[in-house]
Amino acid sequence: MKNIKYYARPSSVKDALALLLDRKYKALALAGGTLVAKTLPDSVETYLDLKDLPLKGIKLQGGNLVIGAGATFDEIDRDRLCRGWAGGIVSAAAAKCSSQLIRNMATIGGNVARPHSFNIFPVVLLGLDARVRVQAKGGSRLLGLEELYAAAPLLRPGSNCLITEIVIPAATKKWKCEFVKLAKTDSSWESYVTLFFAAERRGKALSRARVAVGALSPRPFRAPRGGEGPAGRRGPRQGLRGRPRRRARRGLRLRGVGQPARPLRGRYLR
Ligand SMILES: Cc1cc2nc3c(=O)[nH]c(=O)nc-3n(C[C@H](O)[C@H](O)[C@H](O)COP(=O)(O)OP(=O)(O)OC[C@H]3O[C@@H](n4cnc5c(N)ncnc54)[C@H](O)[C@@H]3O)c2cc1C
Repeated sequence: MKNIKYYARPSSVKDALALLLDRKYKALALAGGTLVAKTLPDSVETYLDLKDLPLKGIKLQGGNLVIGAGATFDEIDRDRLCRGWAGGIVSAAAAKCSSQLIRNMATIGGNVARPHSFNIFPVVLLGLDARVRVQAKGGSRLLGLEELYAAAPLLRPGSNCLITEIVIPAATKKWKCEFVKLAKTDSSWESYVTLFFAAERRGKALSRARVAVGALSPRPFRAPRGGEGPAGRRGPRQGLRGRPRRRARRGLRLRGVGQPARPLRGRYLR
């Protein structure tokens, strides 16, 4: 922090991006500041405060749920649209962030900008097929979480591009979802594992089941085969027999983003 020379508080995304891309300022974006305050590189000379940007709104657009990158965990927790989406999973996950003080400051944009193992939203948003709108030199584009993280170091949110919103697709609105954070205490940021589960029923059949896993690596990952579940099969009362059970066992082989399949048992489960 001792190397900070300038403080900028632009009111448009265009101005903010222009400043970020101007190498002479050596700027880093600052949203809630909860992570930046702990991990500011010495090379940074300009604080680019995002608070005056119009990035806070939460709205429905074309049936999708669109969350502004500047929305805080607390705002997301209390928002009516978030509470009504997929059984309220987005709000419920926001409420699991460590303390009210952090929830008041920390933003969803800052949470997904840098892949950190214990961050709550990457795993939830990966599970919900959310996309992130990124404003970079060439214009704006929508990227899936996997694409965003795979684009590093070309795209470095906060350093050479800005995240402006998170788009959660309409198709997930009626999913039944759960978010589980296994940690020493409810208020711990550090967790042993975070899990996102989703299921969709059509009539009596389970048309989709999905698991996404966080905390085991900086980038969350999905259980690709077992996680997608036996589509079209009847619900839990029928149980798993024969081939489905073998499939479920194989489902324990999880694949990280951009990594080859590897067995979970023994490596992570002790
Ligand atoms: C005590 C403590 C407890 C915590 N507990 C939790 C927890 O339980 N769960 C959890 O998930 N996290 C937790 N965190 C981590 C942190 O609070 C979150 O990751 C938070 O969401 C970061 O958001 P922020 O707005 O504060 O980001 P900042 O600290 O302002 O920025 C973080 C990074 O993101 C970049 N950035 C921010 N906004 C944007 C944007 N719109 N576009 C591009 N880049 C951007 C910044 O440049 C910076 O590199 C905790 C942190 C602390 C200090």
